[in-house]
Amino acid sequence: MVETQLRHRGIQDERVLQVMREIPREEFVRPEAQVFAYQDDPVPIGFRQTISQPYMTALMAEVLELKGTETVLEVGTGSGYAAAVLGALAAEVITIELIPALADFARENLTRTGRHRNVLVIGGDGSLGYPPRAPYDAISVAAAAPEIPAALLSQLREPGRLVIPVGPTDDQELRVVFKTGGNLDSRIATLCRFVPLRGSQH
Ligand code: SAH
Repeated sequence: MVETQLRHRGIQDERVLQVMREIPREEFVRPEAQVFAYQDDPVPIGFRQTISQPYMTALMAEVLELKGTETVLEVGTGSGYAAAVLGALAAEVITIELIPALADFARENLTRTGRHRNVLVIGGDGSLGYPPRAPYDAISVAAAAPEIPAALLSQLREPGRLVIPVGPTDDQELRVVFKTGGNLDSRIATLCRFVPLRGSQH
């Protein structure tokens, strides 16, 4: 997976590649889906949600340029896999999941793999961010929104980075936003297709 799906497609950050080599992705899917854990696609995790394609998780982690000191907010915990990856690259991760049963699934997966120590799973609506621990050095949104929720931009530290799929169902661009000196700059990292962000901001 690391060589053919990630490095071959341009993921260069050696820390990202190493972490994705180490974290057992099969521990973050349902037992009946374990044979699909390393395939080059999203994999269903129940409740019509998916664990993202490995390349997408790698790209989102890479564009955040984490050094190991950051507090990261993730919106859309799902299986907990991306949270585990971010946790290995940053100081701590707060991750929010709207579906309570998936928050429980992620907590179990993180604990079983020993990745829970610096990853806090919160049940709730991440379209509002998570004010108690703001501001965040980096924010990763794993569900697609028609536009970037204002609450997330306001909870981003300066300097800070946010990555989010933006656009209609089935046709989004993965946007990387840099917040610095009172300005927001953004670039498009790739085209993508994520499940929709729900909650009160949308
Ligand atoms: N990062 C996950 C993939 C997440 S899929 C992984 O590595 O497995 C997107 C997730 O976002 C789904 O679990 C969905 O329930 C959740 N979601 C959608 N809208 C949300 C919201 N407003 N707040 C929190 N989670 C949300």
